Formats: sequence, structure tokens, C-alpha cells
Amino acid sequence: NLRVRFAPSPTGAIHIGNIRTALFNYLFSRSEGATFVLRIEDTDLERSSKDFEELIFKELEWLGIEWDEGPDKPGPYGPYRQSERLAIYHKFAQKLIEEKKAYRCYCTPEELEEDRKKAVERGDIPRYSGRCRYLTKEQEEAFIKEGRKPVIRFIVPDDEVIEFEDMIKGKITIKSDTLGGDMVIVKSDGMPTYNFAVVIDDALMKITHVIRGEDHIYNTPKQILIYKALGFEIPTFAHAPLILGPDRTKLSKRHGNTYIGQYRELGYLPEAMFNFLSLLSWSPEDNVEIMSKEEIIKKFNFRRIHSANPVFDIEKLNWMNQQYIQKSSVERIVDLAIPHLRRAGYIDEINDMMYNWLKDVISLYKDGLQYVAQIIEKAKMFFVEEVDYSEETMKILEENPNSKIVLEGVKRAIEESEQLTEEYVKDLLKKLQKQTNVKGKEFFMPIRVAITGEDHGPELVKIIPLVGKDKVINRLKRAIN
Ligand code: GLU
Repeated sequence: NLRVRFAPSPTGAIHIGNIRTALFNYLFSRSEGATFVLRIEDTDLERSSKDFEELIFKELEWLGIEWDEGPDKPGPYGPYRQSERLAIYHKFAQKLIEEKKAYRCYCTPEELEEDRKKAVERGDIPRYSGRCRYLTKEQEEAFIKEGRKPVIRFIVPDDEVIEFEDMIKGKITIKSDTLGGDMVIVKSDGMPTYNFAVVIDDALMKITHVIRGEDHIYNTPKQILIYKALGFEIPTFAHAPLILGPDRTKLSKRHGNTYIGQYRELGYLPEAMFNFLSLLSWSPEDNVEIMSKEEIIKKFNFRRIHSANPVFDIEKLNWMNQQYIQKSSVERIVDLAIPHLRRAGYIDEINDMMYNWLKDVISLYKDGLQYVAQIIEKAKMFFVEEVDYSEETMKILEENPNSKIVLEGVKRAIEESEQLTEEYVKDLLKKLQKQTNVKGKEFFMPIRVAITGEDHGPELVKIIPLVGKDKVINRLKRAIN
């Protein structure tokens, strides 16, 4: 019975790297028939919040990453929030103390800092001296009387070689004397440290495969020592390579958006995101790129995860998202666009007529959108009163000797219209070309620029009826003067 888990800390908006870890766990679980556990690691009381926890649920649900056991899905090994498991950690810490595998340490932060400084001066790597390892009862009592609050430290053996076979990285070997000395497992406020709680939980929750980011690889030997000390079975580890930015440094804010929610808000589609993230470090045998979630699950094979660091390529994501937008219904894109249009102040309340008009406007741009928020710029001219002419578009109007005649003609015909339909516009443009004997670009460009403020865009016969009679006439008037 295979079991995996995703164990985020609710201390901030959820990073792309974490989501990719969640996704790998999910794909492993669905392709191998493993149970997927969601565990909230909220022992950092100051930085953790329920809002961030909610956000984790929300982002996972949005992407279609479902878990089988978690804070909201009772299972046999709960509770699934670390803050609700403190008694369990204390019990095991006590056990380690009784077995002389751990001890209370009364060193103050100042003393530890002093030690650290001295080590640096000597040119040594700082590590805990082990000063409190062999305190007598009397010494301990004296410290307690002084009001010192102890931490609990786990005894790290001096000369042990710790080895494990990573599913992605291969064999990893680390010497115990590089681990910083006896490690804190319970802090002075009674909270367990990450390395301690994670072992207890993974063991008690019967996790068979620990799949997480490469940034934890140096925690793993520490955790292995604790597994051994407690007689727990050691799971299989897999450390997924960190995602890099285009400059091949760790993906961070400098590279752009790094929170999954930012992509959701910009109007990236969850299927596209799921597809894109699955291809960071993994590819199917047939190298097909656009795949549904079901196809990905079917093709996913953990052995095909590469150990090289993937680069987060926004161009590729944009391309992929565009493919998914093209496949979506226009209604879906309209619904996603509405909050953006509202925020831009373009629309307010929406009735049926308005909704249908929006549908027609958005249809003009849908297939060219890389993400939905782009509609704000692309379709702006439909929502504002007047358009701005840039120096360049001004030139198009001014340097064309026929633009006045053409614009006057269009204006007149539109003023005369009873219903400004696509048919009507098509017809009037045809007639006017004959009348004026101006054709092609010479004819169309001034009209386009006058009405849209741009020298490119969707077909004029579609644009004009949707911009509407009054606005079109006003813009033409302005361009003529
Ligand atoms: N809470 C840890 C993190 O967010 C979990 C790491 C792990 O998967 O062991 O990085």
C-alpha cells in the first residue's frame, strides 16, 4: 500500500515550486495507485495562518490536485495539521531522552552566538559544541532556577556515514559530522522543529515515498538519523530538482510571478498550468506536449523524471495557455474576463444584452490571448469613449491624401444607418471604395486608425457594429478635424 504526502507550511502564498512538488506527489499517487495525504505543517505559529491554509486548499483545488486524506478529509492517521499533534511529538521526544538519544540543552542564544563566532574566527564550520550533553542533575536544576528554558537536542553521532538512494538523484552519501552537531528537535517554546515533526508524521502516517524539493536534500540525512533512533522504517526519498529562471538561478520574484495564485488571477487556465507544470522535469515517452490531466496520469512514470534543473519558460507557458484558451468556449473566457473588465472600470452591472455584446467582443480576440487579462489592453477601444492617436497613427491619418474623403464618406453612411449591422458596414465600405476610387490599405487604414487608434486588429466589419454608432461617429469626427 503506497502512500505519499504533500506537506506545505501555510506561511505565505504558495510558490510555483511547491505546487510542482504537490503535482509530482499527485501524479505519483494517481499513476501508482498510492494514497495522497495533505498535511499542513503549521508549527511556525508566528508565520502560519488559517488564511494561507485556505489558500493552499484553493490553489490545489483550482489545479485539480485532489488529496485523499487531509485536514478536511479524515483518514486513519490524523490529525493532519501539525499544530494538533504536539502531544505526539512530545511523547517521542521524551522517549529519546529516556533512551539517552536526546537531552535538554540550556544554552542561551548569546552563548550559542559566542560559540559560532569563535568557530568562524578559527575557520571552522560552526556546530553545536555538545556542552549540555552530559549535564548533572544539579547543573540542570541550577539552570532551571535561573529561569532558562531548555530546548531538546538529538545526539548526532560523530562519525557515521549516512547513505540513501534517491529516486531522482541516485545515491547520496553524507558524513554525520557535517550536519552541525546535535540538532534541536523541540524548541524552547515546546514546538517541534521541522526535521523532527516531519519524521514522526511521515512514519506514523505510513508514508512510503517522500517526494519533495531538492532544497530539502540536506535535511534528509538528519531525518534518517531520527528514523533510525526511533526504530521507524525509512521511506524512499525523491528530491525534485529546483526550478530555475531563464538566467539559470533559482526561480524567484526577480523573474516575474512566482505564486500560483498570480497565474490564476491573470487568467491562466488550470488545465494549461497543470500541463505545463507536469512538464517541468518530466516528459512522456512520445514527447507530446499538450495533454489532458487524464493523459498525463496515464503516461506519467516517475522513472522518467530528469535530475537536471528545469527552466521556467514563460513563453512556453503562454503558448500552451493560448492553446487551451483556443479550445475553451467563449463563455468561459467571458466569465474569466469579467472581473478584469470590472477592475479596469470598463464595465459595471451586466445584463443579457451586455453579456452577448461582451461575447461578441471577446470572440474577436479570444484565439490570440495568451492569458485572459490581456483582453484589457487588446479590447480597450470597445470600452473607452475616445481612443488616443499615437504619433505613428497620427501620421497614417495625416500623410494619406485620401483619408479625409474616406472618413467623411464613412461618417455620412454611418449617420444614415438605421441599424449598424455587419451587413450594412460591409455594403457601405464596398460602395464607398467605388465612389472614392480609393482601395486597399489606402482606404482601410485611415478608417481603422480613426476608429480604433491602432493600425492592426480584427476585421473592421466586425469592429464597427460592436463599437456602436455614436462612438464611431464621434471618433470619425475627431479624426477628420
Ligand atoms: N513543510 C515543508 C516545506 O514546506 C515540507 C518539506 C517536506 O516535504 O518534507 O518545505
